[in-house]
Amino acid sequence: MGSRFEVSAIDPDPKIAWDGINAAIAEIIRIENLISSWNPESQTSEINRKAGIMPVSVDQELFELIQRAVQISKITDGAFDITYASMDKVWKFDGSMISMPDSNTVRQASSRTDYRKIQLDPGRREVFLKEKGMKIGFGAIGKGYAAQKAKEKMIALGIKNGVVNAAGDLIAWGRDIDNKKIKVGIADPEHKDRILSWLTVDNGAVVTSGDYERFVMFNGVRYAHIIDPRTGYPTTGIKSVSIICSNPELADALSTSVFVLGVKQGLYLINQLDGVECLIVTDENELIGSNRLELNNKS
Ligand code: ADP
Ligand code: MG
Repeated sequence: MGSRFEVSAIDPDPKIAWDGINAAIAEIIRIENLISSWNPESQTSEINRKAGIMPVSVDQELFELIQRAVQISKITDGAFDITYASMDKVWKFDGSMISMPDSNTVRQASSRTDYRKIQLDPGRREVFLKEKGMKIGFGAIGKGYAAQKAKEKMIALGIKNGVVNAAGDLIAWGRDIDNKKIKVGIADPEHKDRILSWLTVDNGAVVTSGDYERFVMFNGVRYAHIIDPRTGYPTTGIKSVSIICSNPELADALSTSVFVLGVKQGLYLINQLDGVECLIVTDENELIGSNRLELNNKS
């Protein structure tokens, strides 16, 4: 998934802890092989290759992940959209882009971004991208999904306390080594080694979007690596979004969605969702929280 995972298990028996960690790693690799759009062997790559040509029959697991992704597109009014991936030739965030792409190129590529053109046939478990050149990618939901599945493997092996951290998408359960609730620090987007705020996590996820190294600057404007599917342009105005809720997959997808929706609409959405909170850092370093967010400034 192109990112670093950290897995921790807390157990008096080191063998049980190691078995848990190894099972989590195997699970993450298994999921990577299913959802990676870089690996030509994955079912996801097969779906992309057959875009506009024919439906592809996939595992139940992948089918359901796509169904949930489409569901999130619906509740975010298209701000979250796994078909954003058709834009990955236009926008590159690896430092190789030296000028703004021209508006025609953007318009053309973004015309292939539309979750409503993903055709799902549950009976046959088939996925069809209706137009040639369409592509799906799980960059904004895959890490959260993998973290959840890794946790489930560990719990099945009896790990009662643990943390899976998928490059800032974190899920924690149980107690820490001092038998206290696990505390998670939210990093300051300006100084990654500094903590902006602490959150106590009781069986839940804290997921942060905003990979500070992945953005481009044109004419003094900072464009994040998250694309607004409705315009084809990267989002501006927000540096990071953290979502706190029990489900890391949903948290992952919603953190990306709030980036696209912007502060006002993003908060409006989050404040309507029960058990979901968020913390936004704007380009001006303003901290904005959802209605019921409780922050803790001490470690
Ligand atoms: P981070 O990589 O900072 O954790 P996200 O979880 O928000 O951030 O994932 C960002 C990635 O999601 C992008 O690199 C890209 O692969 C993908 N993506 C970009 N825009 C969208 C979008 N509007 N909907 C769904 N996925 C997107
Ligand atoms: Mg995300």
